[in-house]
Amino acid sequence: MLFKAFEVAESSEKEYKSALVTKSEDDLPPGEVLIKVQYSSLNYKDALSAIGNKGVTRNYPHTPGIDAAGTVEKSADPHFNRGDKVIVTGYDLGMNTSGGFAEYIRVPASWPVHLPEGLSRKRSMMFGTAGLTAALSVYNLKKQGITPPNGKIIVTGASGGVGSLAVAILSHLGFHVTAVTGKEDAVDLLLDLGAKEVIPRAAIDDHSGKPFLKAQYAAAIDTVGGNILATVLKSLNYGGVATCCGLVSSPELHTTIYPFILKGIRLIGIDSVLCDHHLRKEIWEHLATDWRPAKMDKIVSVCTLDTIQEHLDSMLKGQLTGRYIVKIS
Ligand code: NDP
Repeated sequence: MLFKAFEVAESSEKEYKSALVTKSEDDLPPGEVLIKVQYSSLNYKDALSAIGNKGVTRNYPHTPGIDAAGTVEKSADPHFNRGDKVIVTGYDLGMNTSGGFAEYIRVPASWPVHLPEGLSRKRSMMFGTAGLTAALSVYNLKKQGITPPNGKIIVTGASGGVGSLAVAILSHLGFHVTAVTGKEDAVDLLLDLGAKEVIPRAAIDDHSGKPFLKAQYAAAIDTVGGNILATVLKSLNYGGVATCCGLVSSPELHTTIYPFILKGIRLIGIDSVLCDHHLRKEIWEHLATDWRPAKMDKIVSVCTLDTIQEHLDSMLKGQLTGRYIVKIS
């Protein structure tokens, strides 16, 4: 069996170039479940993998794609049967295991989740890792007792994949959302997704050196890290909660201990890659039912294997808005 794949290879000049190539089943890594991929989606990590970031992918040639939704073609594990519809996100998919930017993947049986009732393969990829991460962030805020009457929730990197879905899910659940964006042209979209107000990125990038700023938010979903996360921590109400998942701004966090010891602020790290399989299933059930935002179609664009590279380039420049899904087959 031959199939198409988007492959990144290292040239003799140490540059990384992508191309559409033909592969065979024998090229796939070992694993119990062979899946025909119908949809994948674009995530920041894919963009890093496509430029040779060794923190994401060690060996090339490589097919990125940390997300895939498709149909089981063959399974050596009794939990999966031919024809089952499944989602695979995270674990090692697309990092050092050939990923979802191909017509076929082969993975260990511990990775796929059965597609929940009411969610199509296409819609599952509208969420993808970004949606799972946004929903895990919401789940953790709720677990810490944050409810709509507590006050405003600030979401950073709001026009990105994780951010826009966090805005949409929180708004759908009745929270008052303040969206932070660096893109003037994303304001209408974010208001449309349910944000009550949109503020420019510069407004939450404090360099005063003060340990606290005006307390304005009950909680935060941060997707960018760096000084923006540090500013968010200084702007939370007493007992506020922040989740952090990303490092688009910076992986560094320079802050003081004061928000934690004087205001009881809690900072929670979010990991969607190795998150517990039962929790993962629970989150996908929520995304298929009560947490499914009505307006998410507005933030989704579709591309194909031929046009992935140009969108990954835009993603690295912070220029993409919303979610891009990839129609594979
Ligand atoms: P996107 O590229 O879709 O979105 C990131 C957004 O961040 C941009 O749209 C932009 O939004 C904002 N941004 C871009 N550059 C900067 C900058 N220099 N300073 C501040 N803000 C900036 O990425 P994703 O939403 O897919 O991922 C966001 C982060 O979360 C990434 O770091 C990713 O690796 C991480 N991630 C982590 C996961 C986990 O399990 N921990 C899972 C998934 C993602 P705007 O213009 O609106 O400000």
